[in-house]
Amino acid sequence: MTVVPHIGSARHLDVDPRTTILRGCKESLPVSNQTFDLVILGAGSGGYAAALRASQLGMSVGLIEKSKVGGTCLHVGCIPTKALLHAAEVADAARDAAKFGVKATLEGIDVPAVIQYREGIIASKYKGLQGLIKARGITMIEGEGRLTSPTTVQVGDSTITGTNVILATGSYSRTLPGLEIGGRVITSEQALQLDYVPKKVAVLGGGVIGVEFSSVWRSWGSEVHIIEALPRLVPMEEESISKQFERAYRKRGIEFTTGVRFQSVTQNESGVVVTLENGATIEADLLLVAVGRGPATAGLGFEEVGVAMDRGFVLTDERLRTNIPGVWAVGDIVPGLQLAHRGFQHGIFVAEEIAGLNPVVISDVNIPKVTYSEPEVASVGLSEAKAKEQYGDAAVASYEYNLAGNGKSHILETAGSIKVVRVIDGPVVGVHMIGARVGELIGEAQLAVNWDAHPEDVAPLLHAHPTQNEALGEAFLALAGKPLHAM
Ligand code: FAD
Repeated sequence: MTVVPHIGSARHLDVDPRTTILRGCKESLPVSNQTFDLVILGAGSGGYAAALRASQLGMSVGLIEKSKVGGTCLHVGCIPTKALLHAAEVADAARDAAKFGVKATLEGIDVPAVIQYREGIIASKYKGLQGLIKARGITMIEGEGRLTSPTTVQVGDSTITGTNVILATGSYSRTLPGLEIGGRVITSEQALQLDYVPKKVAVLGGGVIGVEFSSVWRSWGSEVHIIEALPRLVPMEEESISKQFERAYRKRGIEFTTGVRFQSVTQNESGVVVTLENGATIEADLLLVAVGRGPATAGLGFEEVGVAMDRGFVLTDERLRTNIPGVWAVGDIVPGLQLAHRGFQHGIFVAEEIAGLNPVVISDVNIPKVTYSEPEVASVGLSEAKAKEQYGDAAVASYEYNLAGNGKSHILETAGSIKVVRVIDGPVVGVHMIGARVGELIGEAQLAVNWDAHPEDVAPLLHAHPTQNEALGEAFLALAGKPLHAM
C-alpha cells in the first residue's frame, strides 16, 4: 500500500476538531493556518468518501462542512425518500392484502409518524457517520468555506491549507426560468417537510425524483399528474422499459402528459393551476418541481482561482483533475450522473489517485442506476439503441425475459422484464430491468457489464430458486443459446 507522507497533520496540533477552537487557551481562539495533506470542501457522499479513504491511506484530512456530514443523500435525498417509499409499499401491501388472503384494511397514513420513522433512520445513520469520521482521525471543520487559492480554503477567520484540495459542494434543486419556488410550488426539500397527504399533486418532471414522489403519493391515496417535456417517463432509460413503466403507472391511476412543455403556474390559498404549452391546464393542491439539480458552486471562489467551469459545473478530466494541479472535483458538481454511489466512487478514486494507487476509471455509462418507485427500474450500461450505434446493428443481440415466467415475481404479483444487451460473440454491454424490487438485482448486472463478461461465462453460474435473480440468469442463458424456462 502506498502511504502519503504527513505534511503538518492537524492531529499534531492541540486542536479540538469538533469545535475548531484551540484547546488549553483561556479564551476560545479561532483556528487558523491549519495545514493538511488533503482539504475537502463539502462533506456529502463525494466529500466524506474521499475523507474516509484518504485517512485510511495515511493522509491528514480537513473536512469542511457548512451544514451536516452526509449531505443531500443522507439528510434530504436518497435515505429519506426511500423511507417514504417503504412506507408507501407498506400502504400498498395493506390495501392489497386480500389478494394474498390476508384480512387487513388501510385506515390512512399518519404522516407525522412516517416522518418520525424516517428521521429516526437519518439520525442513526448520521450518528454512525460522525463516529466513523472521528474514529478515522479526520478533522471536521464546521462553517462555510470559500476557495481562495489552489491550496487554501477560507472558513470564517481561518485559513485551511491543503497540499491537495477536493471540491465537493454538491447540488441544489433547480427550477425553470420564471418558475418561482414558494407557497404551493415546491421542490423535493419542501415535499419532504409536508406533514399531510395532498389530495392532488402536479409533478413537473418525469425523471427519477419526480416519479419517486409520484409513486409515494399515489400509494398514499393522492391523485397525481406528471408533466414531462420529453416524449416518455424515465426518459434516461431504455425505451422498452419506459413503455412498461408508463403502462404500470397508468394501471396505478397515475396520470401523465409527455412531450409537452410547462408554460406557467398560478397559485392561490386553495391550490395551483398549471398551464402547459398546448393550452391544457392541470389543477392541483401543489406543484412539485423536479426538473433536475444544478451544481452548488456559485460564489465559492472557484472561478476567481481559475478553476475551469461550464454553466456552474466544475470541469475535470476522467481522473477527476481540474485544470489546476492539486485541485480535484467529485460528485454532483462534476458533469454527469448525479448519484450518491457515483459520489462515493469519485471520492475513493481521488483519494487513491493522490496516494498514487492508479485506480480504475469507471465511466458514467457503467454506473448502475435505480429508480425506486413502484415498479422499480434498474439499469447499467448501454441501451440497445446506443449499443447498435457503437458496435453496428448486426453486431448486437438482446434478450428480454418477461417476469411473468419467474416464480418469485409471480408470488410478488409484479409485472416487468429484464433485458440484456450483448455484443455478438462478445460481452454483455447493458442490462435493463423493471419490476418490484429489481433494484436489488443490479449488483450482478453491473459486475457482468463492468467485467466484460460474456453471457456464456455467466450462464453456467447458479441463481437460487425461487428468486427474481433467476430472471437475470434466464436472460444470460437465452443469450448463450440455451434458454431454460423460455423458447
Ligand atoms: P452533496 O451530498 O450535496 O453534499 C455537498 C455538501 O457540501 C453538503 O453537505 C453541503 O452542505 C456542503 N457544502 C456546500 N457548499 C459548501 C461550502 N461552501 N462550505 C462548506 N460546505 C459546503 N442518489 C442515489 O444514488 N440514490 C438515490 O436514491 C437518490 N435519491 C435522491 C433523492 C432526492 C430527493 C435527491 C435530491 C437526491 C437523490 N440522490 C440519490 C442524489 C444524491 O443525493 C446526490 O447525488 C449526492 O448527494 C451527491 O453527493 P455530493 O457529495 O456531490 O453532494
